[in-house]
Amino acid sequence: MGALVFSGKELAARVRQEVKEEVEALKAQGIQPYLAVILVGDDPASQVYVRNKERSAKKVGIESHTYRLPAETSQQELLALLQKLNADPKVHGILVQLPLPDHINERDIILSINPIKDVDGFHPENLGRLVAGYPRYLPCTPRGVMRILHEAGVNLKGQEAVVVGRSVIVGKPMGLMLLAEHATVTTVHSRTRDLAFHTRRADVLVVAAGRAGLIKGDMVKEGAVVIDVGVNRMPDGSLKGDVEFDEVVEKASVITPVPGGVGPMTVAMLMKNTVEAAKLQTLNREA
Ligand code: NAD
Repeated sequence: MGALVFSGKELAARVRQEVKEEVEALKAQGIQPYLAVILVGDDPASQVYVRNKERSAKKVGIESHTYRLPAETSQQELLALLQKLNADPKVHGILVQLPLPDHINERDIILSINPIKDVDGFHPENLGRLVAGYPRYLPCTPRGVMRILHEAGVNLKGQEAVVVGRSVIVGKPMGLMLLAEHATVTTVHSRTRDLAFHTRRADVLVVAAGRAGLIKGDMVKEGAVVIDVGVNRMPDGSLKGDVEFDEVVEKASVITPVPGGVGPMTVAMLMKNTVEAAKLQTLNREA
């Protein structure tokens, strides 16, 4: 059949244009959206992600500053920086790049970000709002996936949606967002008994397992929409998704590539969340 290979890169450029216009409108009212990024240590993947975020912010006119802290930074020092940023009215969005070094308790750090500035949407207040049905900041990766599904014209109502992975960053919020659009959602994970049994039933399959080539052609239904969130660095330095692209592209109706699929959308959605944060904190909107 041959699928529509959906370019997240092109859509991300369009989203950035939307954000840029919103930023210009805010600037005209004297509001400069501002994002603070904190990177602890020198994890190479995290460095790439942070650089992409800085570059994207610049493109859309969001001011950003990255705090690059040494791997030995103590939890107290990090908490002190967060307190300072929480209290600074110039700062609308705060993002702590994960993962953090082992000696820092990730939960304590996330809990100490002011939820109104939590543009990643990982604070329990923001995740709780998503569960309750009145979300504030949607986690960027699943938000990017939803936008791809909308733009690809996928009607989720009554569809079987299967999410592979149950992380707080991707899998769990992804399931909730699909549910909010009336899909019948199944979440599968590393302890699921028969992965293929579930993936084969999916009209919409979102894969976020971090296992290169996990999803083979025979695990996908003919005509399924397949969104590959996985990013796996191969020994030769190339990037590969969780989906065996060459096999699945023959069966799917829509598929996202890696790279150039979900990744660019994640960063674009962070920009959207930052503008929303700037609006919420300056225009007397109800938070
Ligand atoms: P994670 O390691 O926190 O979670 C992985 C999940 O996959 C777990 O819930 C686990 O149970 C499940 N899983 C692992 N192996 C499995 C298997 N064999 N069968 C079924 N389920 C399995 O990872 P994460 O943070 O959710 O990220 C997942 C992937 O998505 C990674 O490759 C990551 O790099 C990528 N990612 C991409 C973006 C992006 O913007 N493109 C953003 C975040 C994460």
